[in-house]
Amino acid sequence: MASSSVKVAVRVRPFNSREMNRGAKCVIQMQDKSTCIINPKQPKEAPKNFTFDYSYWSHSSEEDPSFASQRKVYQDIGEEMLLHAFEGYNVCIFAYGQTGAGKSYTMMGKQDPGQQGIIPQMCEDLFRQTADNTDPDLSFSVEVSYMEIYCERVRDLLNPKSRGALRVREHPIMGPYVEDLSKMAVTNYSDIADLMDTGNKARYYYTHKQDYDSKNTFFCLLFFTESGFLSSVQVSKISLVDLAGSERADSSGAKGMRLKEGANINKSLTTLGKVISALADMHGSKKRRSDFIPYRDSVLTWLLRENLGGNSRTAMIAALSPADINYEEILSTLRYADRAK
Ligand code: ADP
Repeated sequence: MASSSVKVAVRVRPFNSREMNRGAKCVIQMQDKSTCIINPKQPKEAPKNFTFDYSYWSHSSEEDPSFASQRKVYQDIGEEMLLHAFEGYNVCIFAYGQTGAGKSYTMMGKQDPGQQGIIPQMCEDLFRQTADNTDPDLSFSVEVSYMEIYCERVRDLLNPKSRGALRVREHPIMGPYVEDLSKMAVTNYSDIADLMDTGNKARYYYTHKQDYDSKNTFFCLLFFTESGFLSSVQVSKISLVDLAGSERADSSGAKGMRLKEGANINKSLTTLGKVISALADMHGSKKRRSDFIPYRDSVLTWLLRENLGGNSRTAMIAALSPADINYEEILSTLRYADRAK
């Protein structure tokens, strides 16, 4: 079997109160790595089966080994990606799924103990590991940026007063980047926590009037390891992306801005899907040609170019609602995740 370039996980969240009030039923079953979905309208039809690197379950008690806590998700995916960053790879973790399926919970989580998502756990771990370093030749530094992409335009979440869109340019060595985006040097976790807080507030400010999450949110760490002996600096770019809600824009109800938004979101998510499938095919068949990968077709994939191809490691977490009322969206999310393998 060809090895996969992308680690793929799916995670089903608990029922929310709206689903419980409507007496929703769970259409997902998970066992080890496999996830299957039952069509609630055709219960006699054979369930559709998928296999991923991880299938994360929430419908058991927290003590049950099948329960996927925030800690477990971080240990499986975040720790491995951080290790790759220390090895000098660019890394990317992104969360995909319909609005309300658990993308932000998985990536950012909540402040309460045990509820922190991958991003804060990874930042904490990064500083813990650099503090534990005993090699006097090595020194580390970290820069943070936080942005969102909406309708192919980039906004700086660490400088919320700058309302205008920022330009995306290409550096001959570092690749695509956002001009004038704030890059904050941080020396400890508490600095990052403050920036996350600033960025999260700016993010909610922009989204509070929307009925679905139409923005791709990027949390980016540039991680520098300097070796005095070698006079060299290794740079790893760590991109942690909470994608826009994947629900298909309903063209019958969407007009004007909503319709434009839907088309743009479809564009970035569809292009991301194409890029990842193309990379997976390239990896599987050991072909080295990368010129046909359509990074340029969306701002999202263009900015992720250095994180997806070449010297990089990628993980995707597809967030799922458990409820029968969301059957079509859940199935479409599972298919998207399946194509990334
Ligand atoms: P999204 O980012 O995909 O729109 P959220 O992450 O905001 O969705 O999740 C919607 C709600 O469900 C939030 O209140 C969140 O705390 C809760 N939730 C999501 N995933 C989980 C989970 N695995 N365990 C517990 N609560 C969750």
